Amino acid sequence: MRILVTGGAGFIGSALVRQLVLREGAAVLVVDKLTYAGDRRSLRDCEGRPGFAFLEADIADGERMATAMREFRPDAVMHLAAESHVDRSIAGAAPFIHTNVVGTFALLEAARGHWLDLDPAARAAFRFLHISTDEVFGSLGPEGAFTETTPYDPRSPYSASKAASDHLVRAWHETYGLPTLVTNCSNNYGPFHFPEKLIPLVILNALEGKPLPVYGDGANVRDWLFVEDHVSALIAVLRRGRPGGTYNVGGRSERRNLAVVETVCDLLDRLAPDGQGSRRRLITFVTDRPGHDRRYAIDPSLIEGELGWRAAETFESGIEKTVRWYLDNEWWWRPLREQKYAGERLGLLAGK
Ligand code: NAD
Repeated sequence: MRILVTGGAGFIGSALVRQLVLREGAAVLVVDKLTYAGDRRSLRDCEGRPGFAFLEADIADGERMATAMREFRPDAVMHLAAESHVDRSIAGAAPFIHTNVVGTFALLEAARGHWLDLDPAARAAFRFLHISTDEVFGSLGPEGAFTETTPYDPRSPYSASKAASDHLVRAWHETYGLPTLVTNCSNNYGPFHFPEKLIPLVILNALEGKPLPVYGDGANVRDWLFVEDHVSALIAVLRRGRPGGTYNVGGRSERRNLAVVETVCDLLDRLAPDGQGSRRRLITFVTDRPGHDRRYAIDPSLIEGELGWRAAETFESGIEKTVRWYLDNEWWWRPLREQKYAGERLGLLAGK
């Protein structure tokens, strides 16, 4: 299969590309703008492999996307390119509208042009898989879980821009017949996760004896999924999902943020003791994020029942793999972390 993957230098995209190139034998063209969140080093095991190609480009550049489709002739597009960090969207929403909304539109149009050029058999087999988030559904009370029919209720600039992109993708199916698929997934964690996100930030701060920031009272609940389980779900949806369909993806692993941070502390105390007692001493509560959704939880019954997919990792097994990966792969995170702190000193981050 020939698959065009947008955002393939990011956290989830690079895990997907490693799986497709190294284990599934697919031909992959990665299209990525290499923003602060994209890093070609995450794809170093794929570089030079037969079938792997990389195009540095902005998905909102419709002409370049049309050329990429014409030259690569994909059987499928897997669309992961996005601005993805909620705090950054609060500080400045413009890049989120550009990439998530305008970029998705430009990519849909390029994909539609390519799809119309295919012969009937290839046209029927073509798929456009749009990767989205459970944050489009808003916040839950203490009970219940998001299903595929939960009404949209986005509450941050990030989730609003992702909701807009989901609607565009569904409209391209309903209006033009493009064989689209949408997945809405819960919070991912795992190797190659950018160091500003909660779990890597906690691992790396704890290793360096720095404060571990927890928003509000730490009681916000997220439903965690190991990134390789997300990748196996995406491949299942691509192969067997119903065109026009939506699938919620989650690991049935709800945890309070404070419990996540405590688990990481305890794992590091076991795997890399610092001789100064429990790292829980570093936990620091900070002012809550505006509009911070209280609880997200995914009901993955549809993808489990219809496609036979199930998360392979529990939160406990996945988080231990993740902590061990950060301990073993300083070559990857150290330069990113130093850049980040250099940026903070210069007042370049968080909209300052
Ligand atoms: P990420 O921020 O790690 O990676 C995004 C990638 O997109 C980067 O490589 C970046 O360079 C690229 N990119 C950004 N703007 C671009 C543009 N205009 N043109 C081309 N490339 C561009 O994100 P991620 O965490 O890997 O998330 C991937 C997708 O999955 C996103 O669509 C996100 O909304 C969705 N998602 C993420 C999570 C999560 O927990 N991380 C959960 C559910 C859904």
